[in-house]
Order: sequence, then C-alpha cells, then structure tokens
Amino acid sequence: MIVKAKTKKKIGRLWGYALLLVVAYGWFGTTLGPGVIAAISGAVVLYTLFQAPMWCCADTRENEPCRNNAYGILMGCSIQQHKWQKLKMSVRVDMWGRLTKRVLTSIGGVAASISALAATMSAFVALGALIAK
Ligand SMILES: [Zn+2]
Repeated sequence: MIVKAKTKKKIGRLWGYALLLVVAYGWFGTTLGPGVIAAISGAVVLYTLFQAPMWCCADTRENEPCRNNAYGILMGCSIQQHKWQKLKMSVRVDMWGRLTKRVLTSIGGVAASISALAATMSAFVALGALIAK
C-alpha cells in the first residue's frame, strides 16, 4: 500500500509532461484552439521551471553539481544556499550557459529542458496563430 501511494505521488509530480502530450495532441489532433494550446504550453513552461523533478545541480564545495532531489529548473534542493545560488544564476544572463550545462547532467533535467523548449515554441506559435487570426 505504501509503495502504491509513493508511485502515485511520483506520477502526480510528472503532470507537466502529461500536459505536454495534451499540447502535442492539440497540434496534431486540431481539436484545441490556439488560445487553449498557448495556455497549456505556458503551464508546461512554468512546470519545468518550478516543479519538474530533477537533481539540484547547484555548485557544492567540492565543485561538483549537487545530486539532491529538487523540483524545477530554477529551484534548488532543501539547502537554502543552493536555492539562492540557482535563483541568482537564473537572473544573470552570463550564468545561463553554466546553469544549462549543470541542469543537463541529470535525466530529469534533460527531460525538463527539452519540454521547456518545446512548450515555449508551442506557446509562441499558438500566440502567433491567435494574433494572425
Ligand atoms: Zn543542492
């Protein structure tokens, strides 16, 4: 029973990826209007930035990326200093390359980054379609 609840929780945390499937379905199934697609794509982007499960990846004192579990590209693990470090990296353009490299060292990070890119593009295209109408 405990295992089951844990699995459920894990799946619950992956809702953003499920939404991305809805977006893909919207593009190819054409049942959703561009406004709906833009809204869902925006939600997926927020999900990858703040909720997608991945490693923390902040710099540790040993100069290695932190392997603690964290949620979202912009969020650190439970260590306060790591939270600040990632937030600081995200607001400095010159640190983005480093942050991206760090995030891409974990599978969760790769999945989140690709989803973030896909969702951002999807949102822009959908908005463009909306404006062109
Ligand atoms: Zn950390």
